[in-house]
Amino acid sequence: MILFRKVNKWFGPLHVLKDIDFSVDSGEVVVVCGPSGSGKSTMIRCINKLEPIQKGTIVVDGMDLNDPRTDITKLRAEIGFVFQQFNLYPHMTALENIILAPMKVRKMSRKDAEALALDILDKVGIREKADHYPAQLSGGQQQRVAIARGLAMRPKIMLFDEPTSALDPEMINEVLDVMKNLAKEGMTMVVVTHEMGFAREVAHRVVFMDEGRLIESAPPQEFFSNPQSERTRLFLSKIL
Ligand code: ADP
Ligand code: MG
Repeated sequence: MILFRKVNKWFGPLHVLKDIDFSVDSGEVVVVCGPSGSGKSTMIRCINKLEPIQKGTIVVDGMDLNDPRTDITKLRAEIGFVFQQFNLYPHMTALENIILAPMKVRKMSRKDAEALALDILDKVGIREKADHYPAQLSGGQQQRVAIARGLAMRPKIMLFDEPTSALDPEMINEVLDVMKNLAKEGMTMVVVTHEMGFAREVAHRVVFMDEGRLIESAPPQEFFSNPQSERTRLFLSKIL
């Protein structure tokens, strides 16, 4: 579903992704961890071409991102993206936030989009908040609306960039639970997070990045019990 081959990216003189080889199968859940500034956000932003690359190849669901014929709108319609900051439209209710893209991009009728949105709100456990504005919702509820908004496009891939980092501790689990359910349903997911409990429980693979390099990639059991690289060991000793 996602393939990176020798991907390199620079911000001006700053070399932020260095020969990244990375792949994600359909239905796979991959957790990406690593120190701040190691390139995690940049890497996942490359997947839907929010960031261009200067060298290497990225193929997502058969679409080569370097190919000028690739339809970036179509690519992005297949990928849900959930950020640390929920980025909901403050002047729209939860429901309105969710129906926007299906109506605009998928050309759904308002009625169908609303029915779909209510279904998905039900799934993330906040159907009763449909008519609330973001400011009337807790952080955990806002983040679940953001996830619902991503799901409303019926994506093939969901990307999460530190989705629980801005949340108060008591709200982290309600968001992680929604993500766990998605994983169980077979969604292809790339999750940047330091929630290692989540990684242990649902990830098929954990990837460690440091200074723009992909240092290690292993199933969680192996990753946590027997990390191959000294840098991974050092990182784990700090966060576990
Ligand atoms: P992480 O998500 O692992 O914390 P990032 O991918 O955000 O790391 O950042 C990787 C490196 O790229 C950092 O050195 C960061 O300062 C730099 N960087 C990120 N975005 C930009 C940008 N838009 N312009 C210039 N430098 C950037
Ligand atoms: Mg980041």
